[in-house]
Amino acid sequence: MIEINETLQYGKRLKITRVFKDVYLLNDADNGTGYLVIGSEKALVIDTCNGRQNYKKAIRSLTDLPLILVNTHAHGDHTGGNRFFEKTLIGEKELPYYDVGECPAEIIQDGDLIELGGKTIEAISFAGHTPEGICLLSRKDRCLFTGDSVLGRTVWMFMPNSVSIDTLRQSLIKLSAFKGEFDYLLTGHGTKADPPEYIDRLIEACDIILKGEPKERFGTCNIWGREFPCCYYTGEDGMRATLVYNPKA
Ligand SMILES: [Zn+2]
Repeated sequence: MIEINETLQYGKRLKITRVFKDVYLLNDADNGTGYLVIGSEKALVIDTCNGRQNYKKAIRSLTDLPLILVNTHAHGDHTGGNRFFEKTLIGEKELPYYDVGECPAEIIQDGDLIELGGKTIEAISFAGHTPEGICLLSRKDRCLFTGDSVLGRTVWMFMPNSVSIDTLRQSLIKLSAFKGEFDYLLTGHGTKADPPEYIDRLIEACDIILKGEPKERFGTCNIWGREFPCCYYTGEDGMRATLVYNPKA
């Protein structure tokens, strides 16, 4: 049994943290983060990280309840462990990028509700980092699971299937409407709960990119040996964070 806020190592790669009473964070060697949300009848698995370790076994060390798997988007660092599961739910526009043959995908849509017993999770679709990311709101746990759609320090908007900054801004405004219903963000690469203010900071960054000013908020970021333009915004503990984007998108 893990205490709240306690972290323990599970196998070589996974670190499991009990974030809240019924919410666990699974950090896969600092290369991807998935979550487990437990209800009274079912449990929700959100993403499966890289899958180099038996992810389902790790989940089964925490709950015996029937499992529902949802992927926040189709990137491999979030779907790698799907092969240990029978099926998943994913946004429709993510399907062309989804490639885990052993685990067929069904569609989850904006507004869909997942009943876990004693708590209901709502799906909120989010075009941004990818065409149809899925954020998941647990009103009971007062938290929003964002995948890579909203991240603490760096948001990657230069991926081949990322949408425009204008569309990202609209998605962020849509999320803002739910702000009274959660106190924490649990992101796709986080190691702890992050504050919801990241959503406002990212809207601000989008506004700066769309206006092209002030110039001092712009810079470049080297990722995989390529230089991408980025816009700085305020991240964790007032630190500089970056929204990295492709100006042609
Ligand atoms: Zn991603």
